[in-house]
Amino acid sequence: VSTKRKAANADEAEPGGEPSDAETLNAAMDWHLQRHPDRTHLYVYGDGDEPQVLSYGELNREAQAIATALAARGIRHGDRIALMLPTSPDYFFAFLGILRAGAVPVPIYPPARPSQLEEHLRRHGRILSNAGAEMLITVDEARKVAHLLHAEAPHLRHVITLAELDAPSASVAPRAPSASSLALLQYTSGSTGDPKGVQLTHAQLLANIRAMGERLEAAPDDVFVSWLPLYHDMGLIAAWLASLYYGIPLVVMSPLAFLSHPLRWLELIDRHRGTISGAPNFGYELCLRAITPERVQALDLSRWRVAFNGAEPVSATTMEQFAERLAPCGLRQEALMPVYGLAEAAVGLCVARPGRGLVIDRINRERFASSGEARPESDPAAAQPFVNCGPPLPGYALRIVDAEGHELTERQEGDLEFRGPSATSGYFDNPEESEKLYHDGWLRTGDRGYLANGDLYISGRRKDMLVRGGRNLYPYDIETAVGRLEGVRRGCVAVFGDPDPTTGSESLVVVAETRIDDPAKRQELCRVIADTVVDVVNVPADDIRLVPPHSVLKTSSGKIRRAATRDVYRLGRLGEKPLPVWRQVIKL
Ligand code: ATP
Ligand code: MG
Repeated sequence: VSTKRKAANADEAEPGGEPSDAETLNAAMDWHLQRHPDRTHLYVYGDGDEPQVLSYGELNREAQAIATALAARGIRHGDRIALMLPTSPDYFFAFLGILRAGAVPVPIYPPARPSQLEEHLRRHGRILSNAGAEMLITVDEARKVAHLLHAEAPHLRHVITLAELDAPSASVAPRAPSASSLALLQYTSGSTGDPKGVQLTHAQLLANIRAMGERLEAAPDDVFVSWLPLYHDMGLIAAWLASLYYGIPLVVMSPLAFLSHPLRWLELIDRHRGTISGAPNFGYELCLRAITPERVQALDLSRWRVAFNGAEPVSATTMEQFAERLAPCGLRQEALMPVYGLAEAAVGLCVARPGRGLVIDRINRERFASSGEARPESDPAAAQPFVNCGPPLPGYALRIVDAEGHELTERQEGDLEFRGPSATSGYFDNPEESEKLYHDGWLRTGDRGYLANGDLYISGRRKDMLVRGGRNLYPYDIETAVGRLEGVRRGCVAVFGDPDPTTGSESLVVVAETRIDDPAKRQELCRVIADTVVDVVNVPADDIRLVPPHSVLKTSSGKIRRAATRDVYRLGRLGEKPLPVWRQVIKL
């Protein structure tokens, strides 16, 4: 399949369509500039119907001017510069400008609304402080309240907008980075604790991009369509930087635009004949809810060859429904592609083989919970489905180990570890967490899962696992089942274990958001939730709490923060609304 795709493509696009020898992202950019400065690289959609179109040449001109201005302001090689900008041409200019200056971009979630600005800045103070950022490039409104950051981030010398970064008259040539220079500080999502700054060099980013491109058979005749945030690895590295490297046009819209009109995503895939596009599972769910036969009737999704789904658990049900509902638009079942990755690997670690479609492993639930053995099960009532996330990318290796660190055999569940050319050397200025990262040269992912025929199946996170009566339980299954119940807000359920200091065992707590006020109806809902928990895991819940909307804590990328929700539960403050936003992100 692979050679065929490349061969077909070679006729249309120029031969040797990628900068294979480039050792830095800057060199990859130069490679394209020398060959086709006028080739369109970005279609950036803002408020209007028409995108801003940017070529490699235009992008680079702006970036160079920014780099010169940064150097003139005293920014030196290796300095960290935080970027808090929405999806816009400025984001791309600034990011590349920072790289051109030999400095290190630190992308940060931009404030969604000016009214949230103050809280927003406070909650990101920790990231700015940990990164030791010299400068924050942001929007005008944020600049005005920047004094709030001084206590938290004393290194921060400049808080400026791009417009303020005037090109100086005398130009100072910035020093070009090398393969081993830091190219990015990527903060983890903060699902299990405070976000950690993953250090990634140019060589590591390029290695991960090349491995993903090879698996996906990326080529210049592809078109990438993305609404993923540019402050997280999937939107930044997998969507943008990989497209830049392969000479693939990238069509982008902001995550906020997607959230308000999910079908806009599919419309852009249709309009630009998108071939690669993806999202975490919730993105597909939001689309499913918005789809009506009339609204999608006219869409042509037949060119969409890679519909990846990752960054959080992939639901077989969501993907199957999505494929079914959009089959009339030409979406091929084989396009569905589960992926698994983490910031510590740059972005991707496992990617299913293109054209294979969704593969589900149905295993015996009881045996899995009690002994960790993933034994195939044909009886649907006794089976638990796991989604195949594919084999590791070329050049990467996986292994599953037990609690003592011994490698386990196929179909035996344990802790997932990996090795590969983009495995981070550690977290920036965080020796405590960095120390825990490696085990005999393998990087601990913190995730649990099993391997079968070399393919990965993820069962959950080690930190979220509950142990009850010698059985391992994972919140995700319970949360999904409860989240599908009538009256419960979908995706707004947290399940966690609450250790009882006297008995040493963990009680199973379910926190579910609802809008129902009527006491009798609430009681009935609790009963249904209790039954559902027993159905799914065969043990009863010890405590079920119905809470108002927005009580279940989440990361900026929408992942559930179970440990943080548990902290609020323990403080007896669940449902006390509204919790100040910053308390939701900064550890309570
Ligand atoms: P933190 O490390 O700060 O707690 P995080 O782990 O959510 O946050 P990321 O590196 O952005 O931060 O996300 C990687 C994690 O996302 C993985 O370790 C895994 O738990 C989860 N994940 C990614 N892809 C999948 C997948 N296909 N199935 C299940 N979980 C996934
Ligand atoms: Mg993590």
